[in-house]
Formats: sequence, C-alpha cells, structure tokens
Amino acid sequence: MKLTGNLLIGAQEVSATGGTMKALNPATNVEIEPHFALGGIEDVDRAAQLADAAFDSYNRTSLPERAEFLERIADGLDVITPELAQRASLETGLPVAQLEGEAAKSAVQFRQFATVVRQGRFRQATIDPAQPERQPRARVDHRMQKIALGPVAIFGASNFPISYSVAGGDTASALAAGCPVILKAHNGHPGASELMGRVIQQAVRDSGLHEGVFSLVRGGGNEIGEALVDHPLIKGVTFTGSEGGGMALFRRAQQRPDPIPVFSEMTSVNPTFVLPAALAARGGTIGDGFTERMLVTVGQACLKPAILLAIDGPGYLELKEAMISRVEAMQARTMLTPGINAAYRKNVERQSNAGAKRIAAGGDPQGVWDGQSVLFEADGARMLESPSLSEEVFGPAALLVRVKDQEQLTAIARQFRGQLSATMQIDPADHPLAARLLPLLERRTGRIVVNAFAHPQEVSYASIHGGPFPATSDSRFTSVGMSAIERFLRPVCYQGFPDELLPEALQHDNPRGIWRLTDGELSKA
Ligand code: NAP
Repeated sequence: MKLTGNLLIGAQEVSATGGTMKALNPATNVEIEPHFALGGIEDVDRAAQLADAAFDSYNRTSLPERAEFLERIADGLDVITPELAQRASLETGLPVAQLEGEAAKSAVQFRQFATVVRQGRFRQATIDPAQPERQPRARVDHRMQKIALGPVAIFGASNFPISYSVAGGDTASALAAGCPVILKAHNGHPGASELMGRVIQQAVRDSGLHEGVFSLVRGGGNEIGEALVDHPLIKGVTFTGSEGGGMALFRRAQQRPDPIPVFSEMTSVNPTFVLPAALAARGGTIGDGFTERMLVTVGQACLKPAILLAIDGPGYLELKEAMISRVEAMQARTMLTPGINAAYRKNVERQSNAGAKRIAAGGDPQGVWDGQSVLFEADGARMLESPSLSEEVFGPAALLVRVKDQEQLTAIARQFRGQLSATMQIDPADHPLAARLLPLLERRTGRIVVNAFAHPQEVSYASIHGGPFPATSDSRFTSVGMSAIERFLRPVCYQGFPDELLPEALQHDNPRGIWRLTDGELSKA
C-alpha cells in the first residue's frame, strides 16, 4: 500500500493544513519518507461534522451489519500484516515478530467485538412490562437499552503501535458500541497509523456506511488534541499515555460548557509482593521471572512489573542475584521515541536522587535513543520516606525493595497510588499474610495476579485493564477486554412505546434472540 501522508477525513484525503513531518527511525536516528500532513482546527471540525452526520445511521445499524463491518476491518488487517509490521518496526525500533503478533491481536480484537455485537448483550436490554392491575398504582411499560455515546475522539498509544493505536482496542470497542471515531494518530508511528487508517476507511466504504464513521487526524503540537476535546460534537475521549497529558485532556473536558467523559489510561508500576515462604522456596526463580518480564519491550509497557518488594530473609540474596544477572546480561535497546528516551534518562536520575542505590546496569547504549537497563535497590524505610520512588520509570528500570517486616510491607502497600495490576508471589504458608494484603490491593488495583507476572493483557470477557487514579481517570471501566465497550454506552429508557417504534432489542418478539432482563429474570424470551 502506498503511503501518501495525507489525513483521512471521512472518505477524503486531506493534504497538510498545518505543515508536515517525517517519521524518525529511532534505531538509526534517520528520518524516513514520506512527508506526513499535519492538520489544524478546521480538519478537526470537518471530521467532527462528518462523524455527527454519520451517528444516527451508524448507531442504528443492525447487529449483523455492524459485526460484518468489524470483521472486514479484521480481514483488512490480516492482509496488510507483513507490511504493517515492517513499517511499524522502522518507526518504533520494536522487533517485526512482536509487531506481527500485535497485528494478529488487533484483528482478533475486532473479531471478538464482532461476536459481542452479534450477541447483543452489550445493549443490556431490560424490560419491565406494564402491570395495569398492580395496587396501589398501576405500573407503566418501560424498557431500557444502552446506546452509543456519540462521536468519540481516540488518542492512539505510542507503546503498542498497532494493538492500542489506530486499529487498537479503543477503536474496536468504540465502533462496536456504535460510536463514529476520530482517531488522533501518535506522531511516533505515522506510517503504521496511515496503513491501519486506510484499512478502516476501506471497510467503511465496503460496508456502505456513512463516510463520517471514521477519520484520522494528526497534528504538530497540542492544538489538534485540544480541538478534539473541545469540539461540541465530540461526546467522549479515550487516551493512553503520560499522566500529564491524560490529566490535561481530562481537565479540559470537564471545563467544557457540556463536560464529557475522558477515559485516560496513564501510569502504573504494577508492584510485586514476594511473601516469605515463596521467597525462601524459590527466590532465584522469582527474581529471574520478574526481571525477564520487566525487560520485555524495553520496559515500555503499561503492565511492566517495576517494583519488587520482599521481606529480608531466606531467599532474598538469591532473588537479588538473579535480578542483577538478568539486568547485566541485557544489551541496551532502542526506545520508541526521543521524547520517551529523554524521559527515561531523567526518571532514572530521579530514582538515584531519591535515595535508591543502583545495583546493576546492562550494556552501554550504542544508538542515540538506546535505553540502558538499570536495577535499583532501596530499603523499606527509604521507600516510605520518598514516595517518588513509587512513581513510574517508563523504560527498562526496576526497583527492588528490601522490607524489614510484615508491618513495613503493609505500610508500603498502603502508600501506593492506584495501579493497573499488583502481583503476590505466595506459597501456602503465606496465605495469612496474603489475606491481609488482599483488601489493600483490591482498593488500589484493577487486577491482582498470584504466582505469575503482569503480562500483555489477555483480551477476553473477564479482562480488566483499569484501576484507581492515576492508573486511569475512571476506575469503573476497563480499556482492554470485552467490557471496554461500556465506556462508549449510555442508557436510554423508553416508556409506553408501541412495539413498532421500539428499538429492535426491546421489541416484543426479540427478533435477534438476545439475552434480556425481563421483570428481573434473564432470558431470551
Ligand atoms: P504523551 O506525551 O502523553 O502523548 C500521548 C498523546 O496525547 C500524543 O498524541 C500527544 O500528542 C497527545 N497529548 C499529550 N498531551 C497533550 C495535551 N496536553 N494536549 C493535547 N494533546 C496531548 O505520551 P507518549 O508520547 O506516548 O509518551 C510520553 C510518556 O508517557 C512516556 O515517557 C511515559 O512516561 C508515558 N506513557 C505511559 C504509558 C503507560 O501505559 N503507562 C504508555 C505510553 C506512554 P502530541 O504528541 O502531538 O503532543
């Protein structure tokens, strides 16, 4: 597929209105062809007008029609996978094989959401039939279903340039809900973004949908993102990135005359608690497994396990030595963007300044944007005195915390801000302490893992990739998994409607045979 570098506004190709940019190969520090168009406020407005015009018809597509559209996107992704992975690798420095896996995951997400759409349960159809004889007052017929929020803006993530970018889980779940999408492409991988955008644009065309169902915009600063959040026709926003960026957009959306929800996924250190019996039985194995996981994708993953806490005692030395030897054996590798590399270096410095001791380092950087792996150690008292040690270092760095006793361990657990995940490494003798930790972790995380490590999120019905602030801006929702669709829905109640005016999901004979809650009972009747 030939890259034109244009913005995709509905069915139109739009050339630059706000200058141009080129992608950077971070491994060679050399710019790559072609020039990519940067848009302006007028491009956002055009995309929003089109999305608004598309909303009513797209929100009312039948379930099979919408599912087929999602499957067309998945098929299109399958076709371009080799080309997409090659381009994304050039633009991010990530290995081609990993990116092929991401493309496969993206296609799977679209197919899974097609199934969710066909099942129709996301509508949460609920029927309270009329009870004219009820005393002391008759009950009127009222029925509820969930409908799409409206046109939404999605900020593509930098760190998973395919599966959480243009054709990522946010786009799949928004389109599944019935929301037209305006995608703000991340400038870290503009070519990969265009390839995915074209697949979605083609699927819109092939499905006979209104062109405004999908647009892709790109900008040269904050202006375009701000314009999206401010636009009166945009009704919701999703974001993955820094806490500063996510909260700036969140606050902006709350200051609109009509505030809208912003679902920001921002920062998490995914603490691992190694309890004493597990430490004594398999400290070395745990240290090795933790560090291996930490180094995956050059530490640039939201689920990267970044902090390991263990009570000093039998097994601690083996754990520490295993972590040191993994880190020392690791070559420096290319990081995603110069900005992410600069932030990494600064945050490694911050850990040293906050009193963490550097106990191991990997190979020296060879390329300009290489990230050197680093392992820090601090004791529990230092951790309690310096809360900044618990902040994210986005990149291949981890902190080992030598904890004095159980009381100190629970005190540190209480100090953590909201997390996407937390892990407990336990043996049966650790269960009483694990039971004490559990309520502390439940209050602070969206996912609790036992005897494994946080890993790339499984995309399934029970998946939760969310958590209290600052992991996300709204702990009630997940950005990964089938229930991610709930971010894009709102309930509408229909009272006293004639059957033919009711939405399909609420009609008397249930034409699609979906699960409904009728008078409090779940059935397909
Ligand atoms: P970012 O700087 O937050 O940017 C993400 C996207 O949001 C970009 O498209 C950016 O547009 C836009 N944006 C950011 N702030 C904005 C603002 N105030 N107004 C309007 N638009 C705004 O994230 P990043 O580039 O992916 O990486 C930077 C840092 O984010 C990393 O070093 C890391 O600390 C963190 N991060 C964390 C995770 C995680 O999952 N925990 C994932 C990715 C990144 P422009 O580029 O055009 O400004």
